[in-house]
Amino acid sequence: MRAIIGILIAIALIGCKKEVEKPVSMQDDVAFLASDSLQGRDTGTPYELMAADYIQKRYGALGLEPKGAGGYYQTFTFTPSNDPHREATFDSIASDATITGTNVIGYLDNKAETTVVIGAHYDHLGMGGEGSLYREGQAIHNGADDNASGVAVMLNLAKKVQDSALIKNNFLFIAFSGEELGLLGSNFFAKNPTIDLDKVTYMINMDMVGRLNEEKQLAVHGVGTSPVFKQTLFVNNNDRFQVSEHESGVGPSDHTSFYLQDIPVLHFFTGQHEDYHKPGDDAEKLNYEGMEAISSYIFDIVKDLGSQGELAFKKTKNESEEVPRFKVGLGVVPDYLYSGEGMRIDGVSEDRPAQRAGLIKGDIVVKMGDSTVTDMMSYMRALSSFEQGQKTKVIVQRDGKEVTVEVEF
Ligand SMILES: [Zn+2]
Repeated sequence: MRAIIGILIAIALIGCKKEVEKPVSMQDDVAFLASDSLQGRDTGTPYELMAADYIQKRYGALGLEPKGAGGYYQTFTFTPSNDPHREATFDSIASDATITGTNVIGYLDNKAETTVVIGAHYDHLGMGGEGSLYREGQAIHNGADDNASGVAVMLNLAKKVQDSALIKNNFLFIAFSGEELGLLGSNFFAKNPTIDLDKVTYMINMDMVGRLNEEKQLAVHGVGTSPVFKQTLFVNNNDRFQVSEHESGVGPSDHTSFYLQDIPVLHFFTGQHEDYHKPGDDAEKLNYEGMEAISSYIFDIVKDLGSQGELAFKKTKNESEEVPRFKVGLGVVPDYLYSGEGMRIDGVSEDRPAQRAGLIKGDIVVKMGDSTVTDMMSYMRALSSFEQGQKTKVIVQRDGKEVTVEVEF
């Protein structure tokens, strides 16, 4: 059923150019990108290219200029790492051992001094594989929230930005590939930019923005990367969202690649859920009104920041130059919406160290070995210091009491 909807939208997109124009909605974008016919948009597959083609046609219809390496596409070739703890490496020549990903890049040139980058990754996990949390074999991972939702909001913003008189910035829109394999598309772009990165005033990343809950909790990461962000987020909110602010510019998504180039970044995120990285992350479970609200909020922020010239960059605390590398995993899903002290566990994976040690959903990790855990970043740093087979004491808060367990990695 979903496959049929996807094909119908594709036909409509190609066939409707001169017909009465019915604007493409965010539901339409997600329905196509997260349909079974796209087989989970795994990087380097023909299905990912079907998604890329859809996005480039949408850019074209929105009047964005191509800003890839000739046309809208910027391709990058890499050798995937067989070792999950080692990064993939980029290659200049494609071979049987390499994979080629495709970033899709469109530009709105307002002849302004500064450019705002607005990005969202469009690749996902295909039929499963290493990144999947599904344990019952191969199945299509549609990735509606992760991250058809971000692409849909990005395209919605591309329309909004054009409809208004936002001429104080140029806008670069990037649909990244290779995110799920380690932020590869954004990493490649940041090192091989198709515009002058010195003119980029800030970058906005949307990764998983489709599950706004009833409490309207919205996590924003990177708030510490420019002195103006806190105030701007606050004055434009008008109580629309319960915003949980996170300082660090380093996190598990594409904004990290821009932060590492000294560019202020904001990452918007509606939080973890039980369908995360599983086949059940489907289009009908998204909160489209919530996505519209998030798009409006970001649009208001972009408008507001337009009058501020080039934003000052600030390095954030608790971060090394690189994302910590992990030799071990705890086997938990962190609660990214949690803004208190420590790292709250939103889920534990079957038969992994956390579950074997008796940790449960809702536990708040406050100490691992000698390291105090105050937030996500200090948790990641603590975790990166452990080796396979090592044992350590982990202290968690559970129902207001401290519980100590021994974890074996
Ligand atoms: Zn993901």
